[in-house]
Amino acid sequence: MIVAIDGPAGAGKSTVARGVAARLGMGYLDTGAMYRAVTYLAVRDGVASTDGDRLAELARAHVMRMRPTPGGLAIEVDGQDVTEAIRTAEVTAQVSAVAAHPGVRSVVTAIQREVMAHGSWVCDGRDVGTTVWPAAELKVFLTASAAERGRRRCAELGARGKPEPLADVQAAIEQRDHQDTTRATSPLRAAEDAVHLDTSELSVDQVVETIVAWVAEVSTGARP
Ligand code: C5P
Repeated sequence: MIVAIDGPAGAGKSTVARGVAARLGMGYLDTGAMYRAVTYLAVRDGVASTDGDRLAELARAHVMRMRPTPGGLAIEVDGQDVTEAIRTAEVTAQVSAVAAHPGVRSVVTAIQREVMAHGSWVCDGRDVGTTVWPAAELKVFLTASAAERGRRRCAELGARGKPEPLADVQAAIEQRDHQDTTRATSPLRAAEDAVHLDTSELSVDQVVETIVAWVAEVSTGARP
């Protein structure tokens, strides 16, 4: 079983996807972490976010791996833990430009499909339901108002000891969403058969419970 949870930045996808995976005993796959890992390598090695060929080479040349941990998910590049390093403001500012290159996307998408081919996964991202795994049994498009998404991302950064002003966080989210929705290859959009869920007024638990109930409906055939 594959559950695809796509949507814009800050809608709560990763928190919800982790919660659903834990409730159902499924694996959790953070597809954005792989684009972040390629971006981390580009920053480290001085490769421009405009250089699609060299970025695709970087993605091909390094081994990216995800490892479940008690607190969530660790990501490794060539055996080195980069879980924290892929979340810096510098990586976040460049990741959408890096992810827009078709060469990068084809390498990363192939790795994701390889992982998803075995077992049951809850995957969050931008193009899981449309491109990576269009046959997903359940596709959810998670949204929230722009103000709420900014607030959530701010709270998340604060909790990680890296607070940033709300206005800056909101501007960065808008810029990333614009880049993600307007790129030519696999832009951020809802699959035609995705269920839309606006989480602005819902708690994390409510969203998790809603999706868990939808999965049960899919399993019993009550939801086509
Ligand atoms: O999910 P997260 O915000 O960490 O994703 C970082 C970036 O990776 C997104 O802004 C987007 O540019 C890219 N991404 C993507 N396709 C996915 C997941 C993430 O293009 N499936």
